[in-house]
Amino acid sequence: MAKDKRIKGCSNPLCQKAERKSKFKAEENFCPICGSELVFVCAKCHGPLEDEGPNHKICGGCEAAASDRKAKVIDGGKKMAASAGSVALAVAGVLLRKK
Ligand SMILES: [Zn+2]
Ligand SMILES: [Zn+2]
Repeated sequence: MAKDKRIKGCSNPLCQKAERKSKFKAEENFCPICGSELVFVCAKCHGPLEDEGPNHKICGGCEAAASDRKAKVIDGGKKMAASAGSVALAVAGVLLRKK
């Protein structure tokens, strides 16, 4: 059986464990401080997590943000390549003008 790597948090919003966003292992079921049930939380934002299996570790919001960042990085790389090309053209233009 695959190990459940999800993170749990205390479901009691008044508990210091919830306030400090303390993380518990998936095997643990109850908060050692207040005794409330531990629920799966997002590994990134500690927000509520839908139970979609042991590999589902981050919430929809963080997943969207992560793929958004990835898209931006690719976009930025393209822009860098484009500006490097125009710099090369500018340099070539300067060299041509010198002659
Ligand atoms: Zn608690
Ligand atoms: Zn999240």
